[in-house]
Order: sequence, then C-alpha cells, then structure tokens
Amino acid sequence: MTPVFRFAPSPNGALHLGHAFSAIINFEAAKRTCGRFYLRIEDIDTMRCTQDKIEQMLDDLGWLGLTWDQPVLRQSQRLSLYQDALEVLRQKGLIYPSSASRKDIQKAVLKWETNTQKQWPRDPDGAHLFPRALLPDTEIGKGTVAWRLDMHRALEIAGSSLTWTETGPKSQSYPKPEIIPAQPNAWGDVILARKDTPTSYHLSVVIDDAAQDISHVVRGQDLFCATSLHRLLQTLLDLPAPLYHHHRLLTDGSGQKLSKSRGDLGLASLRTRGASPQDIRQLVHWSEDDLKAFIIAPSGL
Ligand code: GLU
Repeated sequence: MTPVFRFAPSPNGALHLGHAFSAIINFEAAKRTCGRFYLRIEDIDTMRCTQDKIEQMLDDLGWLGLTWDQPVLRQSQRLSLYQDALEVLRQKGLIYPSSASRKDIQKAVLKWETNTQKQWPRDPDGAHLFPRALLPDTEIGKGTVAWRLDMHRALEIAGSSLTWTETGPKSQSYPKPEIIPAQPNAWGDVILARKDTPTSYHLSVVIDDAAQDISHVVRGQDLFCATSLHRLLQTLLDLPAPLYHHHRLLTDGSGQKLSKSRGDLGLASLRTRGASPQDIRQLVHWSEDDLKAFIIAPSGL
C-alpha cells in the first residue's frame, strides 16, 4: 500500500515556522517512503480564509522547495459533501439542533457553578462541555444555531473501546507505534455544523482524510486529543482509520505555541528579510530524527 500524507493548513493567517515544520515533515516522510503528499486547504471559514492568503501560502510552500500531488482539495468547494455526512448522522439520530448561544451556555454554567459550588467539566481545549441538561427545552431540539453530536448516543453505537495507532514522539514506544485508547467522551456534545458554517473542522477533516485515502495523518501535538473525536466520527460514518503521528510543536522564546498573529515568524516576512529555505530548516531545528517513525516503519507497522 502506498503511504499517503497530507498537509492541511487553514489559511486564515500567514504561514509561520510551525506550519513550515509540519509541511516539511509530511513532505519528507512521503519522499522517504515513496508515498504521496497532498495539500488540502481547510478554508471552511470563508470570511477569514481569503484568496490572497491562499495564494501567499502556496507561494511560500513552493519557495520552501516542496512539491505536492494533485489535486489540491479546497474544503470551501466541498460543503455539500459535509452536509451529506451530517444528514447520515441526523438520520441515525446522532445529532440534534440547538439554539443555545455562547451566552446562554455561559449563563447556565455559571448558575450551576454558583448553586453547587463545583466546577462544570471542561473539554481538552478548556471550553465548558455543552450543558445540555442545564438548558431549557426551548434551546434543545430546535433552532439552527448549531448541530451537535449526541455523545451519549454516539458512544452507545460506536462502543467505548475505540483506539488509534500513534507513532508520534510523545508515545511511550516511540518511534514504534503505540495503541492509544480514544476518549471522545471528554469532548461532550461537540458542534458539527453551525448556521453560518455548514460544517466543522472535526467533521470535514475525517471526510477529507478518507476521500484522499490518507494513510498517515501527521500533524501537531495540539491535535492529539481531537483524534479521539475523529476516531468516533470515522466509526459512525464508516470511514477508515489512518495512522496518526502528532509531531513536536514549535514554541517561541517564552514557550508559547507559535501563532498566526506572530507576523515576525511568518514565512513571508522571513523571506523578505533574506532568509533562505535552508535557514527555515535550521530555524525549525529540522533533523532526520523527526522522520524516525517513518523510516523504521515505512508503512506504519
Ligand atoms: N487545519 C488545521 C490547522 O491548520 C490542521 C488540521 C489537521 O492537520 O488535521 O490547524
């Protein structure tokens, strides 16, 4: 089986060194394993992902010396596919609409926390779990602010023993694959589509990884916990499970994850200040060690 890798940026800001690292590791892993390397533009946020940002991103990646297989997928052109998947989930009774706004949620949680003197649980990203049980009936099952996954029902169908295969450097058997138990429950009733964006990152990423036959999802450690949710959605939608490799994250001088707002670490800005593609590899501390998991196990196992 030919290994298939992808780099899937959301072009809602300039590419920075963190993206460069992620793109390079995917490109090099595909090269070393005689695999394919695809580019996917995750531009479901059509307000923030503008055409000039996309063009700048492609230009930056080309300048870095990367080449990719065709076609380049653009999520904004695939919205009807995500809606079809949402419809499958709806017909299985796995999603429900809710009209609760962010404010309604905050209000309900605050009231509960004040009354009980306890903390309402949070998801791995630190957001409050959707407090379905605390909201009035008028805010559940109606309205179209958001479509949410019914986590309880989803787990009843998918079972509670989902896992994924991880080859990233944080796994205990690195660089050998490790089986990680998935914990989708930690995310609660997540949003799968909104009124203004008819899909979500979680839904579209699993559909597109399957559509592009991605065998190795190689992405930042910040998405490690989201993989639990992705495994659940793959199971509910009958999609295959790729191997996962969550790579190290680049941080700034204060240990913070790099963000798109740090313009000075943007590739475009570094280019205009005279950096070469080789300098970028040095700045991201690129080393052959980053490819260890793929060289030892070119097909993943
Ligand atoms: N589009 C996501 C981002 O730019 C990455 C998605 C993924 O690799 O799964 O953070």
